[in-house]
Amino acid sequence: MSNPFALRLSRVLARHALKNILPLQAAAGVVSFTFDDAPASACEAGAQALERHGVRGTFYVAGGLTDQHEEGKPCHTLAHLRQLLQAGHELGCHSYSHVRCDLLNQRGLVQELDRNAQFLGDLGVDIRALNFAYPFGAFAFGAKRICSARFRSSRITGGGLHTGQADLNALKTHRLYDVAVDADSYETLLARAADQRGWLIINTHDIENPASRFGYTPERLEQAISAALAAGCKVLPVNAAIDYWQQNAHRANA
Ligand SMILES: [Zn+2]
Repeated sequence: MSNPFALRLSRVLARHALKNILPLQAAAGVVSFTFDDAPASACEAGAQALERHGVRGTFYVAGGLTDQHEEGKPCHTLAHLRQLLQAGHELGCHSYSHVRCDLLNQRGLVQELDRNAQFLGDLGVDIRALNFAYPFGAFAFGAKRICSARFRSSRITGGGLHTGQADLNALKTHRLYDVAVDADSYETLLARAADQRGWLIINTHDIENPASRFGYTPERLEQAISAALAAGCKVLPVNAAIDYWQQNAHRANA
């Protein structure tokens, strides 16, 4: 699909269809820190910042970026990914070749997802409970249909905080980039997440100083994690966050 109008229409349709609503009713808000592409610095400084606070994150991995560079920064090695799993972090899917899913046909997308599932499965990831992030946040109706059938959740890019409920098939994020790109600040959204017991999913890339325009510095990440915990929020990787919301929704409805 390359016609810009058709793509836009498809994205509008995708936003409103194929929803899988997760009620957000629990005693505390949740912040999830996610790292797209798993750059080497995120696997090192990013993971360590979370571990220092006794919490873990989600790294969305495209197997084809292993040992490569992305945005001029070294990406993860296999050793990095094994280390993340060993430390209790979560690995999610980010396609294999890091391609825009809205531009692939059905067969091309399925091949991408099968190949990355094989890659993650070989590392020991449970691919029955896999979470997905659309590369470049690029989703469309056809892609959402395929991804919603395969993944526990699928994440887009931007859109802010979830309160009351979330669409597991199009989870939104706040972009924690060194040069802000979203209108609301992290501090504003965090305060609302704590107050309204919502789910704030953060996405970023490299964690180094200086960061790329899609990354964040280790010092600021450290502050963001501290602030989330100080605000009374739980800091959970995506799978653990979904477990938390589902368990509490069942209790609320019992
Ligand atoms: Zn990416």
